[in-house]
Amino acid sequence: MTLLDCKSMPAEELRALLTSRGIPAFRAAQLRNWLDAGVTSFEEMRNLPRSLQEEFRSIFWIPTVKIEKKLVSQRDNTVKYLYGLSDGENVESVLMQYHHGWSQCLSTQVGCRMGCSFCATGMGGFVRNLLPSEMIGQIEAAQADTGVRVSSVVLMGMGEPLDNFDHVLRFLQMLSEPGGVHIGMRHVSLSTCGLVDQIYRLMEQNLQLTLSVSLHAPNDEIRSKMMPVNHRWPVAQLLKACREYTEKTGRRISFEYAMVAGVNDSDACAHELGRKLRGMLCHVNLIPVNEVDGKEQRRSPVKRLRAFSAILGKYGIPVTVRRTLGSDINASCGQLRRQEKEDVHGRG
Ligand code: SAH
Ligand code: SF4
Repeated sequence: MTLLDCKSMPAEELRALLTSRGIPAFRAAQLRNWLDAGVTSFEEMRNLPRSLQEEFRSIFWIPTVKIEKKLVSQRDNTVKYLYGLSDGENVESVLMQYHHGWSQCLSTQVGCRMGCSFCATGMGGFVRNLLPSEMIGQIEAAQADTGVRVSSVVLMGMGEPLDNFDHVLRFLQMLSEPGGVHIGMRHVSLSTCGLVDQIYRLMEQNLQLTLSVSLHAPNDEIRSKMMPVNHRWPVAQLLKACREYTEKTGRRISFEYAMVAGVNDSDACAHELGRKLRGMLCHVNLIPVNEVDGKEQRRSPVKRLRAFSAILGKYGIPVTVRRTLGSDINASCGQLRRQEKEDVHGRG
């Protein structure tokens, strides 16, 4: 029998499973408390009888997330972690301080199958989906390490969250449960490269989270070169889904736009984007692209970002030029894991 990941089970589900096996409900609450406290072996659960510890060991396993590397920015308080998972795989996560508290950027997959041209994560291909417990574990490990309380999360680390839909949804349910890390849906952002069918599925859930869409280009010609997913879900279909999403949920969509010099940063691009987004309940985040070793992309100069932003403003679209935190520690995800792999394989 394959072992079940008990840490990925919401309290209610754990209770139902144990009672179906004749184990009293209070034992489920005890188990959940130990899991929430970060305990990773059944022997350490001291208030459980030895026989029950044995029984749990025969049905469950507990995935672990351990800090393997930690980089602290000298410029701001940004911390970047490289985590090791139970099967030896690695993912990255970044903890950032804002005036309203600490925000953590989490990974949802080991690698990613979307292959965006500018992204370090995409370079290594896809390895596997993360379990809900492995997403929670990233927060627990950072909190235990720093002693701070994470008050918001963004699913913008390695991987495409909507390509791991079921686990991400379960993670989101568990995230807001009292007793655990306890972060409300309003303090969550989920970023997608634009899997239109999954955006519709998410829409049905009517969650209070913020949806970020990585748009990065105003038309198919440019976007298909940057993001292979655009061949499957072109700009018009994506923006139609986005418009419906805002109408159905009443929530503003945040469009991510990484400015790459000479690729997607012209005045003409800004006008085209302005025309297409005009009137939508949205917001555009302009980010100078992160330069990645082995890729030719160069970031647009600050004055290009300003000019681009001013044009979007004329169409009535709110724009922010994103502050880049932790720029001295390669804080954008995917870069540390790559480096690690290169060190291990001696290619770096
Ligand atoms: N897969 C999801 C979420 C993870 S990527 C997505 O693509 O949206 C998180 C964000 O980082 C996305 O907006 C992505 O486009 C952006 N990103 C990836 N590589 C980048 C780079 N080199 N510079 C700037 N942004 C980058
Ligand atoms: Fe995957 Fe997002 Fe990177 Fe694209 S940008 S390869 S979707 S992680």
